[in-house]
Amino acid sequence: MRIMRKEVTVFDILLLGTGAMVPLPQRYLSSTLFRVDAGLHLIDCGEGTQVAMRRYGWGFKRLQTILLTHFHADHIAGLPGLMHTLAHSGKTDRLTIVGPAGTYQIVSGLFVIVGQLPFEVYIQELQDGDETVLEGGIRCSVVAGEHRGPVLCYRFDLDRAPAFLPEEAERLGVPRNEWSRLQRGESVAVGDNIVQPEQVISGPRPGISFGIATDTRPLDAIANHMSEVNLLITEGTYGDDADQNKAIERGHMTFREAATLARNAHAGALWLTHFGAGMLTPQDFEANATNVFPNTTIGEDGLHGTISYDAGYRPHSPE
Ligand SMILES: [Zn+2]
Ligand SMILES: [Zn+2]
Repeated sequence: MRIMRKEVTVFDILLLGTGAMVPLPQRYLSSTLFRVDAGLHLIDCGEGTQVAMRRYGWGFKRLQTILLTHFHADHIAGLPGLMHTLAHSGKTDRLTIVGPAGTYQIVSGLFVIVGQLPFEVYIQELQDGDETVLEGGIRCSVVAGEHRGPVLCYRFDLDRAPAFLPEEAERLGVPRNEWSRLQRGESVAVGDNIVQPEQVISGPRPGISFGIATDTRPLDAIANHMSEVNLLITEGTYGDDADQNKAIERGHMTFREAATLARNAHAGALWLTHFGAGMLTPQDFEANATNVFPNTTIGEDGLHGTISYDAGYRPHSPE
């Protein structure tokens, strides 16, 4: 049993782009980069994503995982170019590409134009209800969305280990130089008694989490899967309620639907992204979301936030 873990761990989350369908000069295609410790993880990679990544200076070499929601070009066409940049970044450790069923075939097709890479690429296909663990101990679980083709909605969790209780160790008479043994999960003899590590730790403590649901209709299954995440990131392809029928037809969401999804999930906060190319100022429709879910932020390229064990979700000024 491991009692202690580095308490500095946070999710550091950055919207690289917030556009749908086509990149615009001031708005890259929607993709999200997040960091846990030094490891980087990218969600979706449309055309221009590597340019957006360069803008914020988080680097390339530490990219460990690319998670694909689905196979529409605005979410995957940037992969070959990014591979070239990764190859020149000095990266030599493995890259994992995660996606829905069919990822191996699609990525293999895109990689025909990539050539030899100095690192190994491992492809992992997930389906509805699957859970895996990413580097850095991040639990990653998925639920299927509803779009024009298979799509996965991702949830990421960092569990929190119970706390070591020094006052309990003191009360039980454990000498200070033996505390580290208890923290490592070993028992310690104190006179005739044996003190077990369980006696000096707190009860379970809530972890931290966030989720992303893009290019999907708002399903109950998604709300259930995202239950009580600190932050939910969803598409907001349409701001105007009048576009509801288009959203249904094309497998997307309006701001109001996204906000309802966040409310049903009891999320702590909502970021909207993936704005239709025709919607140049999504802020105009902000009220359609905030009327339903007040803690909504209309995303913009460079929007940055953190989720930490102690402070929970915190927005930062855009990078
Ligand atoms: Zn899309
Ligand atoms: Zn799509």
